[in-house]
Amino acid sequence: MNDLFSVAPLVVVECLALAALLGAVLASFVGCAVARSLAGQSFLTGRSRCDSCGHVLGPFELVPVFSWLRQKGRCRWCGANIPARCPVTEGLTAAAFGAFVWRYGVSLQTMEYLIFTLILLAVALVDWDTGFISDGLLLAGILDFVLLTLLRGEGAAALGRGLLAGAALAVPLLLIVLVMDRVLGRESMGGGDIKLFFTVGLFGSLRTDLLVLLLACLIGIGLAFVPQKTAHEGEPSGAIPFGPAISAAAVLSLLWGEPFVAAYLNLFV
Ligand SMILES: [Zn+2]
Repeated sequence: MNDLFSVAPLVVVECLALAALLGAVLASFVGCAVARSLAGQSFLTGRSRCDSCGHVLGPFELVPVFSWLRQKGRCRWCGANIPARCPVTEGLTAAAFGAFVWRYGVSLQTMEYLIFTLILLAVALVDWDTGFISDGLLLAGILDFVLLTLLRGEGAAALGRGLLAGAALAVPLLLIVLVMDRVLGRESMGGGDIKLFFTVGLFGSLRTDLLVLLLACLIGIGLAFVPQKTAHEGEPSGAIPFGPAISAAAVLSLLWGEPFVAAYLNLFV
């Protein structure tokens, strides 16, 4: 399947554990960076603190997932709630990192997907908190696609395939949304969501485009039941948070989209 499986099983387990640990630590960093930049603070300087009492977190309070479980979701000093989304996003990113290494081995392809997973995590967190999808983060995703594709030596043909898959996902959606906006007399889907679909499409293929769209809708409907802090300005309350849904759909599709679509199409031949 990939070069990872030509080495001893113990090395495989170590690689996967290391990937999962890296995923959890980086997810924790991304969560912190998003929270600080939304609060207008620098995320590159200063130690991690409790948002509530300002206590500087010790090494054991920084261990992803486990510190949250050990402290039962509360600050050890002031008892303030630490949102469950911290361990949830750290755990999911750890699982995604392990799964990418399992599926694509230790390769440039894996690196491209791991970087994109972190960018998608930031997109999802910012969208969840503010209702906006950051153009800067989407640009970082596009750069990741272009640079890593070139670094893999795949050249213009692969870039063209990505561009085609991204456009095939985003352009029809844009047309549908424009018609829906006219009919409903309000915004049916944000422009940011369509740009995010385009960026996600770059990493996939024409074969996986439809799968990403379907998965994003299903996950979005599921997420609509998760209580959000506040309804975002300009959005009807109970609006589907599409950014996190598209991000999760993209990661699932990058992992298993191609084999899933191939198995599905095999049913008809
Ligand atoms: Zn505290």
